[in-house]
Amino acid sequence: MGERAAVVWDAALLGYDMGGDHPFNPIRLELTMRLARALGVLDGVTPLPPEPADDADLARAHTMAYVDAVREAPMVGWDVGHGLGTADNPVFGQMHAASALVVGGSLRAARAIASGSADRAVSIAGGLHHAMRDHAAGFCVYNDCSVAISWLLDNGFDKVAYIDVDVHHGDGVQAAFYDDPRVLTVSLHQHPATLWPGTGAVTELGAGAAQGTSVNIPLPPGTTDPGWQRAFHATVPSLLAAFEPQVLVTQCGVDTHAEDPLADLSLSVDGHRATYLALRDLAERYAGGKWLATGGGGYELLRVVPRSWTHLLAAVLDRDLAPDTRLPTEWLNTVRKVAPRAELPLTMGDGADPSFTPWSGGADDRVDAVIRDVRRAVFPLHGLDPDDPRD
Ligand SMILES: [Zn+2]
Repeated sequence: MGERAAVVWDAALLGYDMGGDHPFNPIRLELTMRLARALGVLDGVTPLPPEPADDADLARAHTMAYVDAVREAPMVGWDVGHGLGTADNPVFGQMHAASALVVGGSLRAARAIASGSADRAVSIAGGLHHAMRDHAAGFCVYNDCSVAISWLLDNGFDKVAYIDVDVHHGDGVQAAFYDDPRVLTVSLHQHPATLWPGTGAVTELGAGAAQGTSVNIPLPPGTTDPGWQRAFHATVPSLLAAFEPQVLVTQCGVDTHAEDPLADLSLSVDGHRATYLALRDLAERYAGGKWLATGGGGYELLRVVPRSWTHLLAAVLDRDLAPDTRLPTEWLNTVRKVAPRAELPLTMGDGADPSFTPWSGGADDRVDAVIRDVRRAVFPLHGLDPDDPRD
């Protein structure tokens, strides 16, 4: 199993640190790696350390004017432009180097898959899906997802499917490939009328020859595991079967959790685990077993992110952990040192049941109405029947 799957990691990735009380705190990555190690998920696995992406690779997704602005921002101070120096995207020391290293992590994963040294690869530091061609957005400086997908397209892959399960719309990746029929982007997110960045409507379908290759599934606030899973399974598998990708790239943000402070979906760690197992299964069935997984959002730093992404690492490595697995005392003690008053979970699950009833053609509740709208907008563009639940 270790041979089939690669884990990209280096402590230098913790340098992507926006400082102060910024929610994108790298402790979430450190606590994830510590938990995975304490549970034995990484036994015998030698993580692949990334190299920083060079300018030629950053240029796959960004203008050089923007890359230069990022590089110079810590020296320039105010008025940098390009979305930098804002509350969401503060300028920090070594911003270019740290951001290029995150991109390098996802590229390292892509290279492992393209070379055949691994069928699956995961970089939990990646998933910075909001970064745009010429500006930073939503805590994201460089878009590692877009760079990795572009690199895959130049290195043996003609069709790439990107699935984004973060609570926010995967707007940067959608924009990068909006008119490219070689890339199917699917984003499940909280409805844009109720959450930043306000895009990701069902009607955003792709442009020109790429009509139908941008897919958006905007879910109502409060959606719980069974509804989320029903929406996922009523849309994603059929689209992958029709699109026939050669590799699956996934952004696995965990800010969909009920306890996440920045958004209002109501999923559980058990639901996240079910999603990773489903993504792995879909990669096996529809993408030749090739799966590049990245992290993404997730701001319940102690109680949610470490457990959910340990399940992600375990899924990639075929070392699935049962939700009732006890959290190791060693790890709990580490967290208590950081946050003495935090009420910590005891197991790898929330005790939630993510099982769901498959969509059967109705539109009786708000999630089912979204499913119907998405299928009617997108399925005919792929030769699928939107009203037939078997499609
Ligand atoms: Zn997010």
